[in-house]
Amino acid sequence: MTSDPNFAVGATLTLPCQFCGAWNRVKSQRVLDRPKCGECKKPMLLDRPFPLTDATFARVIAEAGIPVIVDFYADWCGPCKAMAPELDSFARKHAGSAFVGKLDTDRNQATAQQFNIRGIPTMIRFASGAKTTEQSGALRLAEIEKFAGV
Ligand SMILES: [Zn+2]
Repeated sequence: MTSDPNFAVGATLTLPCQFCGAWNRVKSQRVLDRPKCGECKKPMLLDRPFPLTDATFARVIAEAGIPVIVDFYADWCGPCKAMAPELDSFARKHAGSAFVGKLDTDRNQATAQQFNIRGIPTMIRFASGAKTTEQSGALRLAEIEKFAGV
């Protein structure tokens, strides 16, 4: 198990399947077990930052039983690329305690505008459906952990 303060036994995440779009409820401590979509049976791929969109963002955040860290990024952004492996490591290391999402700010401008994203990468931490903290700039693993409170 883990000593992470955010770890919550029985907490769930509600996530759209990346293949068929069906919504699935997944136990947050099982994200590394390659859960399958209940609809199309394809793997959910939850061991890495999960792509969120304007269409899925609000529900994922609202129904998450553990804190969600969202990386607001763009494909052309060098510092975003530099931070990606650090964020991948964070997602695996703290699976079950914090969930990592990513939002392409070019393709999902409504959400980026809603949170007033001016520079990227920007990370926002959400807990119980509400924004708790925000930080801009590329971070290393230890800094992401500090930001996430894990
Ligand atoms: Zn599916």
